[in-house]
Amino acid sequence: MNYFLIYFRPTGRMQSRPYVIYAFLMQIAFLCSLNTVCAQTAEDYLNQPFLERLNNDSSYMRLKKKVVHEFVNAQPGRWGEFIKGVSEDLKTTEKLIAFTFDACGGEKGTGFDKELIEFLRQEKVPATLFVTGKWIDGHFTDFLNLTRDPLFEIENHGLNHKPCSIDGESEYGIHGTANAAEAFDEIEANARKIEAITGHRPRFYRSATAFIDEACARLAHELDIQAISFQVLSGDAIPHTPESVIEENVLRNISPGAIVIMHLNHPEWNTCEAMRKIIPRLRQQGYRFVNLNAFELIGKNGRK
Ligand SMILES: [Zn+2]
Repeated sequence: MNYFLIYFRPTGRMQSRPYVIYAFLMQIAFLCSLNTVCAQTAEDYLNQPFLERLNNDSSYMRLKKKVVHEFVNAQPGRWGEFIKGVSEDLKTTEKLIAFTFDACGGEKGTGFDKELIEFLRQEKVPATLFVTGKWIDGHFTDFLNLTRDPLFEIENHGLNHKPCSIDGESEYGIHGTANAAEAFDEIEANARKIEAITGHRPRFYRSATAFIDEACARLAHELDIQAISFQVLSGDAIPHTPESVIEENVLRNISPGAIVIMHLNHPEWNTCEAMRKIIPRLRQQGYRFVNLNAFELIGKNGRK
């Protein structure tokens, strides 16, 4: 720890109190730059103050103004999970599967399925985790832990877990973003939050509920972010779905390149129990598991 003082032994005038204090502060600054002492804290990144800081950041606001201007008179287009501009599969013919797990956050979605994460680690199953800013706020230490594990890819599930709409659509009773400005913050502010914490900008965005309009998919594309949904709905999000039903949903609908949607924020659901059955059966069928980031993605309904 004391590299600085080992190499800079104070002698003579350097033993004075102001110099020692100065040397101590310099040492702290040096160690902070190595991220060894000044650990990141949740308070630095909480949604509300983080967004307020972005609202005072001229480059963020310039980009927001430009993008919002482009969409101010745009038509929302189709609303759904499988619309133009949204990807659902890996572009591959190999027997590869991408498991994705959403961490939604908010009033009813703040849990963390540690058992599931431990199972994925134990079985060395890579997974892509779509996290919201809200979920990060509630699980900062767990989030940091996940970001440091190369098994997991971190992607964007929106700042406040709102379905992405430029005109205030809702889905499953969850209000979507009201306009292009809010859609921009939902996507871009969470991308910047994840990048600020992890050092990596997410490439993919799955909106809350996976519902999105065509304008929002284009808006994400403007930000160099690909909107995605899924090919295989595991059904784990319907409370009390038995593990056998989740297992059957996945095994019946799987095909090479499929993106499977599941959740990691409800330990009381049967996601982990189902995965314990699904993984060995898919391995028996010759499937391997991958993250999204090494692949080009494709969608059934138009542009990638
Ligand atoms: Zn969600």
